[in-house]
Amino acid sequence: MIDKGTVDRVLEAAQGQITDVISEFVNLKRRGVNYIGLCPFHNEKTPSFTVSPAKGIYKCFGCGKGGNAVNFLMDHEQISFVDAIRTLGKKFHIHIEEKEMTSEELSQQNDRESMLVLTGFAAGYFSKRLHESDEGKSVGLGYFRRRGFRDDVIKNFGLGYSPESKDAFTREALHQGYKLEFLEKTGLSVVRDDYRADRFRGRVIFPIHSLAGKVIGFGGRILRSDAKAAKYLNSPESEIYHKSQILYGIYQAKQEIVRQERCYLVEGYTDVLSFHQAGVSNVVASSGTALTLNQIRLIARFAPNITIIFDGDTAGIKAALRGIDLILEEGINVKVLLLPDGEDPDSFAKKMEGQKLTEYISQHETDFIRFKTALLMQESKDDPVLRAQLIQDIIRTMAVIPDPIVRSEYVKECSNLMKVDEPVLYLEIGRIRRKKLEKEQGRTLSNTSSPAGGNLTGLTPAASITSGNPFENEEREVLRFLLKYGDYPLGEHEVEGEQRLVSVGEYILIELRQDGLLSANPLYNRVMELYEAHHSDEGFSISRFFTGIADAQISSLASDLLAPEYSLSRIHNRLVAVKTEKEGLDEFVPKVVNELKWKKVRVLMEEKRQQLKKAEEEKNQEQFMALVQELNGLQQAFIHISRVLGERTVV
Ligand SMILES: [Zn+2]
Repeated sequence: MIDKGTVDRVLEAAQGQITDVISEFVNLKRRGVNYIGLCPFHNEKTPSFTVSPAKGIYKCFGCGKGGNAVNFLMDHEQISFVDAIRTLGKKFHIHIEEKEMTSEELSQQNDRESMLVLTGFAAGYFSKRLHESDEGKSVGLGYFRRRGFRDDVIKNFGLGYSPESKDAFTREALHQGYKLEFLEKTGLSVVRDDYRADRFRGRVIFPIHSLAGKVIGFGGRILRSDAKAAKYLNSPESEIYHKSQILYGIYQAKQEIVRQERCYLVEGYTDVLSFHQAGVSNVVASSGTALTLNQIRLIARFAPNITIIFDGDTAGIKAALRGIDLILEEGINVKVLLLPDGEDPDSFAKKMEGQKLTEYISQHETDFIRFKTALLMQESKDDPVLRAQLIQDIIRTMAVIPDPIVRSEYVKECSNLMKVDEPVLYLEIGRIRRKKLEKEQGRTLSNTSSPAGGNLTGLTPAASITSGNPFENEEREVLRFLLKYGDYPLGEHEVEGEQRLVSVGEYILIELRQDGLLSANPLYNRVMELYEAHHSDEGFSISRFFTGIADAQISSLASDLLAPEYSLSRIHNRLVAVKTEKEGLDEFVPKVVNELKWKKVRVLMEEKRQQLKKAEEEKNQEQFMALVQELNGLQQAFIHISRVLGERTVV
């Protein structure tokens, strides 16, 4: 733990010297008061990445990324806030004051640290054995060379060799002063009473790195043919190594995954190495375990797209299908590539150089639902019972997809592939989703089952429905602020009866939802829904989320709104021009939101007045009274909004 004073000191230093921090990674050139360069977060040929030393922030007008020096390091290096503070502290020679921990925290941390120091030592030992001992060179290095691995790849992944000896490593570690307790806890040594042995003896070693690049575990492949021993052996679970939470190669791949916005998922260690060697480094392996939710979330932190690469043998595929349902549920886009018969990712990558390999993948990968359908259809052939089961299975898969637009595309496709009418599929999907929601929420959905958007569309005068969305301009303006500045802090706001700091996005969400003021444009409503569902996800970045989303309609809307040209909006022309948008968020955001509300409430009031007239003519007293009450409420809201807006007079 770092104390707050230190954090503040580091933040202050970093803000003042942001160009120093960023120019370590980006070639910056001065332009006026700012600096510009090629954005490290997306591919571009003309610089749109801007650093403002005066404000201590950076912003890319191409991909929308932006923030302060700490955000930059976290994003670029894919490290935690605390690690970014540590790195910057070192850079600016600020002593990092670590907060005192309780004795329990201390001993836990000490254990973990001791284990990490030991695994680090072990990695060095194995590597040295591989490169420097005769046995290592002939057996271990010989093996890697036969597999065709180049030295740079062997070095990048820290490959090693554990000698064919009962306890050579254990003895060396003890001799160097490492404790037996940690040798046992990390699983490097097998300890029973007086018996001590090296777990990985006679194996080539694949160190497994944490996200931050520390060695946390090992995989070992046996080289002699021994029927009794497993071909691959992994470190056991420990305080530092949780195999369900880590992916092999993620440390070496993470930056490229971010850049490519896609992660390739292969099966084994050597598959990962071969891809790297072919020049394709956005690749990880789940190494020996079935894919877990935590692993998927790990990928989702870096990219919204996964391509799973299978070899032609169908045995492993069916087991993996379950894992894929999990991926869909996380809102990640899944594609599948089935390699030609007799090929595995390893052999395949060896035949193709980088560009060709990625081209092949993008040309041959298929949509997951189509893949699954084709696979199961083939199996069920003419058996009607199997076919019915298959349809159920696919429907369950489609039902977990969170994004309604993506889902509807799948429904269309499956309807074609399986020869089932779309309405039938929707009905069944709806049933499954409702059941799931009820289970999750533990209550019925009677209150929330009214379709989103119905609220306003039903009340808008008929004329304006036919002439399109009457609030198009205002809504677009609100959305532009949401997408562009959604992650920026706005100020204190009341949330469920409590004052707390909210972001621009949260403010917009709260304000629009509170009055049920949904858009007549379903696309806008979906943007709000998606934002609501995802904005509190870890590492959520609004611009990245919406520009990177698979739905073409939404991502192109997002890019339109985020484009710098658009900032010459009506707001700029009308409001104080001297202030830049970002500096005036606390003024502009409530303004555009309230303008939208003002216009909507006015239309609603007109609507109610018409209904009131009708109820009077029909002498429907009950409805008349209800409408009067509603109209009163709207009038109150109208007066309030008008007051907030200040310049308008009450009509
Ligand atoms: Zn960019």
